[in-house]
Amino acid sequence: MSNVEKIRYGNVLNGIENFDGIPHDLTSPADGRYVGTVYYANKSTADEAVDYAEEAFNKVWSKTGLSERQKLLMKLADRIQERSDAYSELETLNTGKTIRQSMLMDIPLGIDHIRYFASTKEFQPSRKIAHPEFPDTEGVVEYLPVGVVGSIAPWNVPFLMAVWKIAPAILAGNTVVLKPSHYTPLTALELAKDAIHSGFPPGVINVVTGSGSEVGDAIVKNPKIRFVSFTGSSPTGSKLMASASPTIKKFTLELGGKSPNIVFEDADLDHAAKGVLFGIYLNSGQLCESGSRLILQSSIRDRFMIKLKELMQRMRAGNPTEMETDISAITNASQQEKIIRMVDMGIGQGAKVFYRNEISGKVPEHGIYYPPTLLTGIGHDMEIANEEIFGPVLTVMEFSTESEAIEIANRTNYGLAAGVWTDDITKARRVASSILSGTVWINEYHLLSAAAPRGGFKNSGIGRELGLEGVLEMTETRHTFISQGKNDLDDVAYGLLFPD
Ligand code: NAD
Repeated sequence: MSNVEKIRYGNVLNGIENFDGIPHDLTSPADGRYVGTVYYANKSTADEAVDYAEEAFNKVWSKTGLSERQKLLMKLADRIQERSDAYSELETLNTGKTIRQSMLMDIPLGIDHIRYFASTKEFQPSRKIAHPEFPDTEGVVEYLPVGVVGSIAPWNVPFLMAVWKIAPAILAGNTVVLKPSHYTPLTALELAKDAIHSGFPPGVINVVTGSGSEVGDAIVKNPKIRFVSFTGSSPTGSKLMASASPTIKKFTLELGGKSPNIVFEDADLDHAAKGVLFGIYLNSGQLCESGSRLILQSSIRDRFMIKLKELMQRMRAGNPTEMETDISAITNASQQEKIIRMVDMGIGQGAKVFYRNEISGKVPEHGIYYPPTLLTGIGHDMEIANEEIFGPVLTVMEFSTESEAIEIANRTNYGLAAGVWTDDITKARRVASSILSGTVWINEYHLLSAAAPRGGFKNSGIGRELGLEGVLEMTETRHTFISQGKNDLDDVAYGLLFPD
């Protein structure tokens, strides 16, 4: 690698690219090639970023209005749109996801989501209320920025994640310090540089790379951070709650999942088969809401499994940087080890490989991969039936009745997403209303709207991201009680202390 020309990606603090920190060369999980050099920051750089963000909030950003902030967000979306091919290429090299997915989904969807926050009229910073108990008064409820938002992101959809962490926070009037995953920080760093180019004042959007135990921990513990927006695994989320507790702050936790995809016998089976495979094999299953548990009505088992196998045979392995490749790499070696360990254990406990794509010899030698795998013979108490694999592995369980399907769907400790496939929309809505999860798709999967709140029930998290609910999470609510002078009820109220 010493002969390769280094491409440097500094942290972005106070509007300036900063190369302090430990240099680290990133290689691509797609084929092992050098991608760029990043600079892992330490606690003091993270704290410095928070100081800049606080100063920017106090001196500049807290004085801006909603329309000014939305104009800047729109400029940022336009700027990224102009450079979308560069973003797609970088996203694919850094994560190993297919270039088609970056070009057709992650990058354009992220741009659309910035545009949503740049144009939504749903969020209004204040509203008037009546006080029914005190008719001569009025109330104003304001949704104020919290100040500095600290955001911590995982490695699987880094560009989308940077958008979700930054755009709603900016709309609400906050400044941001984002720590992307140390594996995949590149498009978040690009976004921060493009924010400067688009006219965001220095210190409003800061991105600092580094480890969770150093930079992430510094963000969580910093008393100037008033809100932590965390996305990652459930065990890390649980740790974070403990380390945040001494400095009282708000937070949202967007955590893991083990999402069920229920297919009824009356579904359009061709459509459902595609949707089920899209639900699990997009991004090689490395999506929090991946539909990793197929819950299939027994009466259609054989027909449906054949359809799945035929479609899986058409998925092409290759180098994800090439347009004709369908299968994404696994983004890091420790994730690949986790998938191997969990699947091997499941097979040891009696699970059967119904079908597995043969990818060896087709994927680049120095890349990191796991073949799309379809497992049957799943026992209810197996780890692979209950815990997140976060890889291209679909487990199949069967049901006979609607209530049995719901019972299996709700059996895990997660509750992030679910899919229901049937032509009977009344039944679909009835089933959806019984599933304990933050998102339910009916006859679709993975379609993400910035207008819709995302988040989990149970161990899948706390709070919501995106939509109006996601913006409101990042605000403090102030109620002002306005009386025009003496109120009819004053005599009663004050009379409690002063009887005449
Ligand atoms: P992770 O929990 O290992 O890390 C997430 C982030 O937390 C990283 O930036 C990491 O550096 C940081 N971190 C680690 N330890 C920390 C600590 N002690 N204090 C502060 N920060 C710390 O998760 P991952 O492996 O990067 O991502 C995969 C997980 O993310 C999966 O469980 C997946 O389901 C979840 N995820 C959830 C959503 C959602 O919206 N619910 C979306 C994407 C991914």
